[in-house]
Amino acid sequence: MANERSGSCLCGAVRFRIHGAFEHFFICYCSRCRKGSGSAHAANIFSASASIEWLGGEDKVRIFQLPDTRHTKCFCSDCGSSLPLEEVDSGFIMVPAGALDTPVDIKPDARICFASRAEWVDELECTEVVDGLPD
Ligand SMILES: [Zn+2]
Ligand SMILES: [Zn+2]
Repeated sequence: MANERSGSCLCGAVRFRIHGAFEHFFICYCSRCRKGSGSAHAANIFSASASIEWLGGEDKVRIFQLPDTRHTKCFCSDCGSSLPLEEVDSGFIMVPAGALDTPVDIKPDARICFASRAEWVDELECTEVVDGLPD
């Protein structure tokens, strides 16, 4: 179905379905997203009209809110994978692109907080590409 996507966490305990259209896709390089992802950036899809349906493992879903900020992260308590989140204030849902099992049919809108990027991000474009694991 066009406006239905599904996803899961790494351990498979948590499974979800997203109903409704995706609206924005932002790649965020801020220091909070770098900590939270353990990588160069977060990759989150946003929608004001879509909704989250938990298909399994909802009891494993944890939400962390950084005190005194609006920075929140939803994750599986068993494997730590990022999971979708419903922002109660704004009504927006936020879906980590990497959590989706169905193809991501929206292109990123922008790389944001790019001035905060890790110093090694600019090196990636001239880094060797290996299809599998290195020898
Ligand atoms: Zn998990
Ligand atoms: Zn960020």
